Amino acid sequence: MLEKLKHTVYKANLDLVENGLVIRTWGNASGRDKESGLIVIKPSGVSYDFMRPEDMVVIDQEGKVVEGKYRPSTDAPTHLLLYRTYTSLGGVVHTHSSYATSWAQAGKAIPPFGTTHADHFYGEVPCTRLLTQKETENDYEINTGKIIIEKLAEIDPLIVPSVLVNGHGPFCWGIDTENAVYNAVALEEIARIAFYTVLLGKTEPISQFLLDKHFKRKHGNDAYYGQNDDKI
Ligand SMILES: [Zn+2]
Repeated sequence: MLEKLKHTVYKANLDLVENGLVIRTWGNASGRDKESGLIVIKPSGVSYDFMRPEDMVVIDQEGKVVEGKYRPSTDAPTHLLLYRTYTSLGGVVHTHSSYATSWAQAGKAIPPFGTTHADHFYGEVPCTRLLTQKETENDYEINTGKIIIEKLAEIDPLIVPSVLVNGHGPFCWGIDTENAVYNAVALEEIARIAFYTVLLGKTEPISQFLLDKHFKRKHGNDAYYGQNDDKI
C-alpha cells in the first residue's frame, strides 16, 4: 500500500543525508497520504545503507502500525501531533543539522537578517522553551510536539515552516515531503548565514517592508517570482 508515498519518503530520507543535514540515522522524514490520512515514516534506527522503500512504515493518525515490519521512528509521536494539529501539512522532517541545531542549543530564535531568510520564512524562526523534567521523562516525543505548537501559537505553519526545539534541533514541514526537505535545506542555509551575520556584529533584523517584499513575491496570491508552478 501507498507504494508511491513510501518511495517519496524513502528518497526524502536519503536526500537529507545527501544535503548534509543528517549523518548516521540522526534524522527522519515522513509524509501524509491526503486521501486516507495515513502517515508513511522512516523506520527506527535502520542503517541508510540497507534501507529500502518497502521498509518505510505506514501508521495511522494514532501511531498504530498499519503496514511494515519495522517499528516507526521514535519521533513518530511528534510528527503525528503536528499532522493532527495542522491539516495543511503533507510532510514533516526532523534533523540535527549543524547550524540550525547550534541555534537550537543556544535557545535562540533565528532573526530575519536578510532577504535569503525572507524568501523562505515570514519572520523569525522561533525557538521553543525547554521541556521540564516531567515533560522529558513522560511522553517526551508528544511533549516535544506540544511545545512546538505552543510556540507557533497563531502563526500559520506554512509561512514559518520550521521551529527550533530548544536544546535539541529543528523540525521542518511543508505541503508534502519534498517541500519539507526543501524547507529543511533552506533552514540550514539561513541558520548558517545568520550565524556569520551575528559574528560580524549585526543584531537587528531587516525591516518589515523588506521582509514583506521578499516573502510575498514568492508566496501567496500576489506572488510573481518564477513561473506559474514555482511559487512554493
Ligand atoms: Zn532529534
